[in-house]
Amino acid sequence: MMKEIDKNKAVLVTGGSGYLASWIVKLLLEAGCQVHTTVRNQADPQKYGHLLRLAEQYPGKLCFFEANLLDEGAFDSAMSGCEVVIHTASPFKIAGIKDPQKELVEPALTGVRNVFASVGRCETVKRVVLTSSIVAVYGDAVERVQTEKGIFNEGHWNATSSVAHQPYSYSKTVAEKEAWQIAAEQSRWDLAVINPGLILGPSLSSRTDSTSISLMRQLASGRFRMGVPAGKQAFVDVRDVAQAHLLAAFSPRAGGRHIAVAHHQDFLDVAQVIKTAYPQLPLPSGYLPGWLFRLVGPLLGYSRKFIRRNIGYDLLFDNSRIRQNLGISFRPFNETVLNHIAQLKNDGLLKRA
Ligand code: NAP
Repeated sequence: MMKEIDKNKAVLVTGGSGYLASWIVKLLLEAGCQVHTTVRNQADPQKYGHLLRLAEQYPGKLCFFEANLLDEGAFDSAMSGCEVVIHTASPFKIAGIKDPQKELVEPALTGVRNVFASVGRCETVKRVVLTSSIVAVYGDAVERVQTEKGIFNEGHWNATSSVAHQPYSYSKTVAEKEAWQIAAEQSRWDLAVINPGLILGPSLSSRTDSTSISLMRQLASGRFRMGVPAGKQAFVDVRDVAQAHLLAAFSPRAGGRHIAVAHHQDFLDVAQVIKTAYPQLPLPSGYLPGWLFRLVGPLLGYSRKFIRRNIGYDLLFDNSRIRQNLGISFRPFNETVLNHIAQLKNDGLLKRA
């Protein structure tokens, strides 16, 4: 049985300025919680102006702290008095990476070590919710053929990514493994993990650096007009993933991993939904043939190995555990996609992608 959580005690959300974490902060405030959150640089309010506005809306309920994943002890003061820690901050980049060890693996792993070391020192903490990913469940889409019924579940682990191949996936895998190992060494607090698929849905800020947002901007701004790669992806709404974190924070049945995937669709399905409401956008209307992707993929930064092991394969996940254990239901795919495009359009972010 997991520890009982007092909802009147403060909750810490790491990296509150991020795309997903901002929604977690908002939902916690709406639920009446006292929220602590960390930002990397408090002197850069540009990155978290939307949270400052939320703080004004909920006077005295949201406190800011500065913390970098790489700094030992950086999360101590933010955690003081909290029963729940939601650790979401971790770099999410899949393109334009020059030094994967430094840009991805180190902050993800050192971040878990530092946050969990603070948890070890902070006697009030009873539960940690970690944002992992489906990329800690599988390495390359081709691995699906080795699974029972071709579907990944919480029992699977990514065993094939490395610093050289799929470094973001590797960073999430080593970070989640480290978290489970630290959790097993003690009994004061429980660990619950959320493993989201590709997150889409409206952002609370007009930042464009989260990969989810840049991907949607590119899709709706003509970058894939020639076509999209075939193969089903695993999508989920940012608001549903945030809700899953709240359920994991307070539910007595939240232990273990939870795959947060709502819909299996390909990028052409996303484009077709956008087209129903925004037919004037320069959307793709077909698939990029495999031979053409193999030809141009390396020029776009995709390795031959990545293309061989991922393009054209469907990614399928079993989401029954999160639905049964946390009682979550997912919003329709159309709503996620259309709300996301509407936000990008309202924030003037579609033309410059
Ligand atoms: P995001 O908007 O880029 O958020 C990343 C957050 O991590 C930001 O708050 C960022 O801080 C923080 N961060 C990065 N490096 C840091 C460092 N050295 N010190 C302190 N903070 C640091 O991306 P997101 O999509 O919300 O991702 C949030 C989490 O969800 C990540 O753990 C990611 O792996 C996971 N996830 C995302 C998806 C998806 O499709 N988006 C899917 C599965 C899992 P700044 O605001 O200062 O940059």
